[in-house]
Amino acid sequence: MKVAVFGTKSYDKKFLLAASEGTNVEWKFIEPRLTATTAPLANPFEAICCFVNDEISADVLEMLAVGKTRLIAMRCAGYNNVDLHKAHQLEIKVARVPAYSPYAVAEHAVGLILALNRKYHKAYNRVREGDFSLAGMLGFDLHGLTVGVIGTGKIGQLFAKIMHGFGCNLLAFDVHPSDECTRLGVKYVEMPELLAQSDIISLHCPLLPSTRHLINDGAIAQMKQGVMLINTSRGGLIDTTAAIRGLKSAQLGSLGIDVYEEEADLFFEDMSETVIQDDVFARLVTFPNVLVTGHQGFFTQNALEAIAQVTVDNIRQFASGEPLSNEVAVS
Ligand code: NAD
Repeated sequence: MKVAVFGTKSYDKKFLLAASEGTNVEWKFIEPRLTATTAPLANPFEAICCFVNDEISADVLEMLAVGKTRLIAMRCAGYNNVDLHKAHQLEIKVARVPAYSPYAVAEHAVGLILALNRKYHKAYNRVREGDFSLAGMLGFDLHGLTVGVIGTGKIGQLFAKIMHGFGCNLLAFDVHPSDECTRLGVKYVEMPELLAQSDIISLHCPLLPSTRHLINDGAIAQMKQGVMLINTSRGGLIDTTAAIRGLKSAQLGSLGIDVYEEEADLFFEDMSETVIQDDVFARLVTFPNVLVTGHQGFFTQNALEAIAQVTVDNIRQFASGEPLSNEVAVS
């Protein structure tokens, strides 16, 4: 089976080729991401492989259905960019990689906390320039702080375990609380209490219509003054303009994000020779207490191997007519 891979990067090619060795899965690597403009490139392929910022809207799905596409193999866990109802209606199956290395993302969230707190990014530059002064580097002990975890699925649970290791008190909110977190000593509370009590808040829930802009002006106003907010989940969970207002008023003490609601036009590309047109993003990166990484939480050797392996398994199941164990069901 030949599969068109949209938005191919060098690392996708390397890991997908390694995982498909000895199988009958072959790849057509396509550099542009999937949009209404690039959708015709999928035409001769029964299966396509997509990632987080591909546009798999109703319009694009209609175009895919005109071609031969019957399977969309997402090489990621999230599928908020897929119009599932439309895919179902057009009898296009959607499979994903539900879990690869949740450690990768949980550890990255902790990395953002440590870097924002102890200013590693500034220290790196300062020391290289022979500046060994400490002004502006003041941090705080994590031990004894209260950390609020929103969403305690695979990643949120691991994040909670790591923060527990630092000696933090843990609060959580989830529509389906986890027994493992409760055993760890995590206290499940309602959202207003989590917002009001936490010194650090980390988002690990999916982006759904109900969670879009979960962190807005109202939520930020309920937080402790000077709170640290971390988002490694999906950009749309935070109303970025509200976060900017929160940072300007010092209600938000710091912000660490690996995801941004308008990231599709920026992330995963080298934009260093380009004038960034997104003024909200441009403002965000001017704050000294904001740290942005470009959706790299998943980006470890272990995670890429697992993603490629499960993607190949999903495609092979489809090709042999077996039920898809990782099919995304329409709710
Ligand atoms: P998961 O499905 O295991 O856990 C999600 C948890 O969120 C579940 O426990 C669910 O009950 C909970 N939840 C759902 N709605 C909620 C709500 N309204 N409020 C609070 N909790 C709610 O998912 P996971 O594997 O832990 O991944 C979490 C998120 O991380 C994903 O949605 C994905 O968007 C993101 N992610 C980011 C990266 C990255 O590279 N930055 C990589 C992988 C996943």
